Amino acid sequence: MLNLDDYIRKVPDFPKKGILFYDITSILASPIAFKYCIEKMAEIYKDKNIDAVAAIEARGFLFAAAFAFHVDIPLIPIRKKGKLPGVCLSKKYDLEYAQAEIEVHLADVPKGKRILLTDDLIATGGTLNAARSLLIEGGAEVPDIFGVVGLPFLNYKKILDPTPVTTLIDYNAE
Ligand code: AMP
Repeated sequence: MLNLDDYIRKVPDFPKKGILFYDITSILASPIAFKYCIEKMAEIYKDKNIDAVAAIEARGFLFAAAFAFHVDIPLIPIRKKGKLPGVCLSKKYDLEYAQAEIEVHLADVPKGKRILLTDDLIATGGTLNAARSLLIEGGAEVPDIFGVVGLPFLNYKKILDPTPVTTLIDYNAE
């Protein structure tokens, strides 16, 4: 069995001092590790009646696109403000020192359908929380949230409650 930890590069003090950055480009650089992640996602959500997968710019797209192709479901990109050309739903949310805003094309949200919401890594869960609000506002359900990597010591389960969160690997306080 593959040990995913072997394929995650840990970069101290990036993007700023005191942050240990878990880099997933080293998963992408290994066809074995990338395939493992996508096949695991397919296995986890096999009987969950997922109609579509949504993902957050930009690293979230990498896993969700492969998953969508693999299980033959639509992919809904959630992007930073100003990138999507059509009519959008927008949501502002707080970062550590600033505010951010994400958007989704209203027409791309399948009304009444079950959307799996994904990202590469879940830290505070703030971005996924905002993304979940967007999809619900657009008329969809979000029965599950998925991240390849989780940092549970940042308490993302609390903010994402009651939606179940699944990760392939977790890291605890550095
Ligand atoms: P958050 O909203 O706090 O869950 O995190 C937002 C995004 O920041 C995630 O999608 C991650 O891609 C990225 N991120 C946050 N912390 C880290 C970290 N320690 N290592 C790698 N990426 C991170």
